[in-house]
Amino acid sequence: MNITAPKPSSNFINETAIRSTLDTARRSSPARVREVLSKARQLEGLDAGEVAVLMEIQDAALMEEMFAAARFVKDEIYGNRLVLFAPLYISNLCKNECSYCAFRAANTELQRRTLTQAEIAKEVEVLINQGHKRVLLVAGESYPHEGFDYILKALNTIYSTKNGRGEIRRVNVNIAPLTVEQFRQLKDAHIGTYQLFQETYHRETYAKVHTLGAKKNFDWRVNVMDRAMTAGIDDVGIGVLFGLYDWKFEMLAMQQHIHHLEEQFGVGPHTISVPRIEPAVGSSLAERPPHVVSDADFKKIVAILRLAVPYTGIIMSTRENADTRRATFQLGVSQISAGSRCNPGGYAECGDGHNAEQFQLGDHRSLDEVVRDLASLGYTPSFCTACYRLGRTGADFMDLAKPGLIKEHCSPNALSSCLEYLMGYAAAETRQVGEKLVNRELQTMPGAIGKTANELVARVRQNEKDVFV
Ligand code: SAM
Ligand code: SF4
Repeated sequence: MNITAPKPSSNFINETAIRSTLDTARRSSPARVREVLSKARQLEGLDAGEVAVLMEIQDAALMEEMFAAARFVKDEIYGNRLVLFAPLYISNLCKNECSYCAFRAANTELQRRTLTQAEIAKEVEVLINQGHKRVLLVAGESYPHEGFDYILKALNTIYSTKNGRGEIRRVNVNIAPLTVEQFRQLKDAHIGTYQLFQETYHRETYAKVHTLGAKKNFDWRVNVMDRAMTAGIDDVGIGVLFGLYDWKFEMLAMQQHIHHLEEQFGVGPHTISVPRIEPAVGSSLAERPPHVVSDADFKKIVAILRLAVPYTGIIMSTRENADTRRATFQLGVSQISAGSRCNPGGYAECGDGHNAEQFQLGDHRSLDEVVRDLASLGYTPSFCTACYRLGRTGADFMDLAKPGLIKEHCSPNALSSCLEYLMGYAAAETRQVGEKLVNRELQTMPGAIGKTANELVARVRQNEKDVFV
């Protein structure tokens, strides 16, 4: 990876180019749409003009052709695996004023809460007992007296909490933008992905909804991944908060961001998240988002992303309800959260934490219920953390993913980590459904991959833990 510090610049978001690309795409013929879909099926991704062509599809038959192409790409690259994680909110203190978020500084309706390290450890124990292996650390932008060290201590607490039943093996982080030096410290603390959403790439809207604190600075935020990558963090996750501005504009701006990172660092984002605004305590904007994204457009967004950036993971959170989540799995989603709480202390205290939570969740099922549902739908719930622990990140990951070699690792690892879950944590009914799925997969996995999977699974059956290639 090229780690020379790039000149911070947000020029890569070019609103004029976005408008012109959108205008041109409105005149696309069905033949042009089919041409784009056939290119997407080559697994080479799409440029902004091609993304715009797909965004303009209205015709039901063409839409179905696009969904079929997305299902094809999803299946080719990710098979039936879905990686599971849980968010871990450690503090809802915040100095910013984002009009859509319950954590905003001026919100007096929210009960404020910052977890101590002991409380963080308690949360982690609950997640370990549920069977989770990956967490996403989340916080508002204001830390207790020790400042940024609070985050570093929290990471250490999460990785070092063990209770005999397991451990958290990968911690991803979604916290406010940092300096290059702070990112270096984050890297030294062994984070997985650094994730941050631009919220909106539209400057005018950005200024309207961020009226206080460091987050007011669009450029500081939009250049954050340049700083993270300069510091050597090569798995970064981007996203837009859908509902703030026109989703078509955001999709093309996101393409510009991706291309900028590819140009500067030789690799684009590891993941893209697609949060839609949900109701939040003390936020009238969240009750009535200015640019609501319909369920139909939401599915379109997932499918187009899958076709545009085939090797970038797509994350679906529990903001969405179970039905919407299910509908997006086959269209391209590769990672999902499950059993989530978005209030600090929400796992260990399990009471009614609504007045401390960031927004209203749409999927309230437990991890075990989600695992059972996935298995019964034919998806393999994966708890794999192998790539990051073996240094297969950033460009190295893409070098394996693009020629299709990553499957040799992911497919067996998904099964071994799934079986570890089934044997260690699952309810009887879940185990039954899951075992059927594991056995079916073992029988159908071809050649060398099948052999590796059978070996890993046999080791897990002998009670060996954390088995991966
Ligand atoms: N405070 C940091 C920040 O703003 O980047 C990091 C964590 S913030 C708690 C995580 C994300 O939650 C934000 O980037 C935003 O996209 C999302 N969010 C905030 N309010 C939301 C709402 N009402 N519905 C859905 N997502 C929301
Ligand atoms: Fe604070 Fe992040 Fe919420 Fe904005 S989105 S108010 S920065 S926690």
